[in-house]
Amino acid sequence: MDDRAANRAKLDEDDASARIPYRHPQPQDAFPEIVIPHAVPEDERLWVPQAKNVWFRPLCLSASRGYWVNLLRVRKAGVLSRHRHPQPVHGYVIKGSWRYLEHDWVATAGAYVYEAPGETHTLVVDSDVTEMITMFQVNGAMIYVDPDGVVQGYEDVFTKIDLCRKHYASIGFGENFVEQFIR
Ligand code: FE
Repeated sequence: MDDRAANRAKLDEDDASARIPYRHPQPQDAFPEIVIPHAVPEDERLWVPQAKNVWFRPLCLSASRGYWVNLLRVRKAGVLSRHRHPQPVHGYVIKGSWRYLEHDWVATAGAYVYEAPGETHTLVVDSDVTEMITMFQVNGAMIYVDPDGVVQGYEDVFTKIDLCRKHYASIGFGENFVEQFIR
């Protein structure tokens, strides 16, 4: 067997050589990592208002790759705009629950959801839910449509960055505050 294959995934507990850090520079053009100790923020002001009773909290705004990772928070039962995804979306439900009008499942806390490219759906938070928080990685764009699929509007990483800039400037954090999330 190839030794390197055998070495791939073992956990070294004692071997001192295993604890030697990689000793070369990271690639010159690599972006810095992002570490956010409290993804669900302790500071309420980090939530960016998006609509009445709807907020998002930026985690990674990838201007270079055209996607964004954020928490979506909804604090009232209601229907979120019908939308189409040209590219995949990954979701992880942290709190509460929600569902899509177009499907018969309910996403509850702890659930992972994959939304396939091409999907058009309408997110509903039911009346027994006081708050839902879900982490979404959205690639490309959310395209808002009417029930026949006629385009009404869109969001992409750049409109998200814009909303963050305006919000963080308006509360005194400065419009540059958003830059820590941009890669
Ligand atoms: Fe969606």
